[in-house]
Amino acid sequence: MASDTLHANYAVGKELEVQCQRCVGSTAHRVVADARVVGSDHHMDWETEYQILQCMGCKAISFRSAASNSEDVDHYYDENGELQTVYSVAEKLYPSRIAGYIGLKDGVWLLPDKLRRIYQETTNALTSDQHVLTGIGVRAILETLCKDQAAKGRTLFEQIDDLVQQGVLTPGRAAVLHQLRTLGNLAAHEVEPHNPQQLGLAMIVLDHLLEEVYILPAKAKKLFPPISGPTVTAPVIAALPPLPPGTVSVFPPFPGVPLPPSS
Ligand SMILES: [Zn+2]
Repeated sequence: MASDTLHANYAVGKELEVQCQRCVGSTAHRVVADARVVGSDHHMDWETEYQILQCMGCKAISFRSAASNSEDVDHYYDENGELQTVYSVAEKLYPSRIAGYIGLKDGVWLLPDKLRRIYQETTNALTSDQHVLTGIGVRAILETLCKDQAAKGRTLFEQIDDLVQQGVLTPGRAAVLHQLRTLGNLAAHEVEPHNPQQLGLAMIVLDHLLEEVYILPAKAKKLFPPISGPTVTAPVIAALPPLPPGTVSVFPPFPGVPLPPSS
């Protein structure tokens, strides 16, 4: 008969190297609390660790589970050439994350509602290894952005080119977006998954674009409010009397200062 034994907080303070949800790359994480379940029956044994972790860099709290059993093993040769067997470990991190991608952490709330929703669903799909859905999401982000920016054209191809005409996109960035458009096409119509590296790069390109079009202008508007008070407008300048001969205006509304003598 199977039996499970629970060991609570046996690894508190232990350090692990795992991918952080905020820092780019793996960082040292400390076990804050944990539970370890160990069990066996006549055929096999198993073990699962559940841990609350804290990144020692950014202090973010997240969750990890690591499961293994005697039926799922890996083999390797040690330094003496002897074949060794170890249990393979299935690790899961929550919130899910992938190496090298952190997304728009502090600016995503500045995106328009529809764009924010599809962006969050797509990044969740990316970090959960759902490659077909991520490809479809990449195309949906592009289509939503074009619609929001009132891009003209019957197809996504034409709309991306129209954003170049509008000055929203540079030609170089548009060329990359055309590649993402093709990528989303394959995912949507052929149910063709793309590799995680392609999808990660596609999302990084979209992150830069969303930052440039929405997030940076919104932050700048907040940090640098428009100057209030009276300003000199074009009609006022036009209404100023003409400068006397031999003078030059240095700053409206000063009427003019004498020109330096010519040598
Ligand atoms: Zn961190």
